[in-house]
Amino acid sequence: MIIDSHCHTGKGDLMTAPWNTDAPLAAYLRRAWAAGIDKTIVMAAFHTDNAQANRQVARMVARHPTRLIGFAFVNAKRDAGRIFGMVKYAVTHWGFRGIKVHGYEATPTREICETARALAVPVLVDVASRAEVVDMFAPQYPDVNFIVAHLGSFTDNWKAHQQVIYQLKRYPNVYADTSGVRQFDYLVQAVRIAGARKLIFGSDGPWLHPGLELHKIRLLGLGPIDQELVLGGNVLRLLRGGHRAVRHYTSTLTAAEISKDGPDGTVSLQSEFHSEPLEEGAEYKL
Ligand SMILES: [Zn+2]
Repeated sequence: MIIDSHCHTGKGDLMTAPWNTDAPLAAYLRRAWAAGIDKTIVMAAFHTDNAQANRQVARMVARHPTRLIGFAFVNAKRDAGRIFGMVKYAVTHWGFRGIKVHGYEATPTREICETARALAVPVLVDVASRAEVVDMFAPQYPDVNFIVAHLGSFTDNWKAHQQVIYQLKRYPNVYADTSGVRQFDYLVQAVRIAGARKLIFGSDGPWLHPGLELHKIRLLGLGPIDQELVLGGNVLRLLRGGHRAVRHYTSTLTAAEISKDGPDGTVSLQSEFHSEPLEEGAEYKL
């Protein structure tokens, strides 16, 4: 199954750029269908009222229930104090499966991470080239899965791409989506260094063409199993409450067992950084 994990829908209210004006889905749905994309994760366009924007997304998901999966857009600053309520409502009433946060507005706060943990949903976060914030929230919330949009930068910031590739390797709970990444060799490096289990196909539709973005993944020339993971298997694992599995396995399995797939094949915590046993006094290993 091919899942596009990053697409927008609905209207924004600021009208200064495409991403805060309109994300029409008709052409996207036609293009995605022609490209063989089975399902798409959708989130709002930029809006000054996320509750209203998320409602628009819910209506679109209700119209295409077999093709669309909703994520709740929240602004860490403006929605502070009501984020749990907003996301819980979206999850329980509309069947939403994740949270979207944009670093252009504010990066994930404890309120967002604790909401994600409580509701067992992943956080898709655009860090807007500020990859250093991943080093703050990811180790603080090892039982929350984070998908770093655009491999850290929509604006071709190669330093952010480089940093995120190593964060993918270091943190079992950090993933990246491929949407809008133009410097192809950073995708190659991400697979080489962090493995295909950490990369998730996304298009950033409807503004980017889903077929074109999908073709990038095919050009990686992965083996069939790895390609299937990038195109859908990885995100499915996260949508199925993968982070609960992470918490369970980390507390009950040994490091060697953690490095393999879980007994139900749902999760892999392969990470040299985390699975290496620490020797007392060897601070360089901490
Ligand atoms: Zn986007």
